[in-house]
Amino acid sequence: MTSGEIFTGSFTQQEPIPDDAITAALGVLRHGRLHRYNLVPGELGETALLEQEFAALTGARYCLAVASGGYAMATALRALGVGPGDKVLSNAFTLAPVPGAIASIGAVPVFVGVTDALRIDLDDLESKAGCGARVLLLSHMRGHICDMDRLMAICDAAGIAVIEDCAHTMGATWNGIPSGRFGVMGCFSAQTYKHVNAGEGGFLIGDDAETMARAVLLSGSYMLYERHAAAPPPEVFERVKYDTPNISGRMDNLRAAILRPQLTRLPQQCAAWNLRYARVDQGLAGVPGLSLIERPKAEGYVGSSIQFLLPGWPGDAVAALVARCRERGVELKWFGAPDPLGFTSTYRHWRYAASDPMPESDRVLAGLIDMRLPLTFSPEDCDQIARIIRAEVIAGADRTGPDRA
Ligand SMILES: *Cc1c(COP(=O)(O)O)cnc(C)c1O
Repeated sequence: MTSGEIFTGSFTQQEPIPDDAITAALGVLRHGRLHRYNLVPGELGETALLEQEFAALTGARYCLAVASGGYAMATALRALGVGPGDKVLSNAFTLAPVPGAIASIGAVPVFVGVTDALRIDLDDLESKAGCGARVLLLSHMRGHICDMDRLMAICDAAGIAVIEDCAHTMGATWNGIPSGRFGVMGCFSAQTYKHVNAGEGGFLIGDDAETMARAVLLSGSYMLYERHAAAPPPEVFERVKYDTPNISGRMDNLRAAILRPQLTRLPQQCAAWNLRYARVDQGLAGVPGLSLIERPKAEGYVGSSIQFLLPGWPGDAVAALVARCRERGVELKWFGAPDPLGFTSTYRHWRYAASDPMPESDRVLAGLIDMRLPLTFSPEDCDQIARIIRAEVIAGADRTGPDRA
């Protein structure tokens, strides 16, 4: 049974592709040279230009555009020499493509717990730093950036290389430094539900010439690396080209054409997300039984989604809340559900990568609610969504009553 106002917007509807991006895409379709290396004399092509522009945006020396964010992560691992049987540290709370990238090369994820602030548990990381892993695939899951100074100190001391998964932090910063610039490589996604939309796509950035040259070769460059404009110089490729397999996962000129105008708009888009995030955050402030996630001062976040905790709520009460909100048009995702639904799986569901139980993380995930904030929502939509959640949480907390443990 529902009562009160109902939200009628769509949680999966992103904005249309901007007109200048459509015009650029039509240009590529009209000349037909969609493959990134299919160029006429003097032409750099949309993909190489996109890489140059993304390198400039992030301040990275090198950039490689690829087929997806998941592909970028697997490529980064391969470029660092991670192979079958190698342990790779990663987040217990992240999206399935992260452990999937590790598993795709036969490596073995070692999961690190999540705190109440939804960041990687740095004490747990410190205790697992001696497990034999040479790499941490660090996911800034849902845009929450941990204390990067402490994280880098832990990893540097243990000789662990950091690859950053920035699928939710394109445009975000820590102490003013762009996300993706702390580790040896940063990986981004250009998939529809991230911060730029090419349907599918990804980026890899870094300053280390040899790893980035390997990444270019791995991505399927057919030894045409001189057609890149944000790659290391040819002599670096000479050193690694005979040992690096070609595992095709390139970006194409059509997607690159759609992405370039979107990169220009990224700062405005991030501001638009943060306006919406603030409206929901304010609307949920002070609701008994609901904790909002504090954002550290050092974190320049992008609020493309919002999370909150229902600490100590029994599972059936959370499930009932999610159902009641859904009846009123508000789509909440619950990371504590017994079964993985949509993108809400956690380390307990990834049975190909068995882990010791992490009771503290389980406690956090049991009450973790997540909600997307597409830019097709107006600020007033966000106020309405917050009112609905607020009313249902209050009603749910009443119903759950004193036996809430
Ligand atoms: C979406 C996502 C990815 C991977 O992106 P794809 O482009 O879909 O492969 C990686 N990490 C996180 C946390 C994500 O949400």
